[in-house]
Amino acid sequence: MEYASKLLANAVYEISQLPGIGKRTALRLALHLLKQPEQQTVALADALIKLRTEIAYCKSCFNISDSTVCEICANPKRDEGLICVVEDIRDVMAIENTSQYQGLYHVLGGKISPMDGVGPQDLNIGALVQKVKDGKVRELIFALSSTMEGDTTNFYIYKQLDGLDIVTSTIARGISVGDELEYADEITLGRSILNRVPFENSMKAN
Ligand SMILES: [Zn+2]
Repeated sequence: MEYASKLLANAVYEISQLPGIGKRTALRLALHLLKQPEQQTVALADALIKLRTEIAYCKSCFNISDSTVCEICANPKRDEGLICVVEDIRDVMAIENTSQYQGLYHVLGGKISPMDGVGPQDLNIGALVQKVKDGKVRELIFALSSTMEGDTTNFYIYKQLDGLDIVTSTIARGISVGDELEYADEITLGRSILNRVPFENSMKAN
């Protein structure tokens, strides 16, 4: 595509780097921004820069946070002996929306996927195992998506915990295999956390 302006071409290129946005949509968005009051685009750019440069991750659970320890970890009412292991921040949001869970989380930042070049060392697994070794954790609930990668990740962590005094469970799924956690409705998801099953049982079923 030929652009009358290099500035426009640059903006279209950058917008089109976002997932799901092609060159045509990027052009439409860029032209839309040009029609809006200048202040609106400045506010958008400012929010994006702040998002990228100022956001922090909780040093304990790796949830997204505006401070070094997130609000969930800092809440004394939460049960610190119970940790729900999730793939990413969207899962924390989904489970929090159910209002059924009073424990803490541990965000792995993905799942083991050799096809995508993601190994255990790329995820926040070491910190999780260390937390268990420190002896404060009573139970780990695996809440990764029930895909092959999710199962592989659960099993890898489970093996790392071998010999440690810990109960492991997995959320009971009312949803079909392969469904992503964030799409499960709140009632089903809330129930599946309350009705979790011992992790060993889930392995026998496979
Ligand atoms: Zn936290």
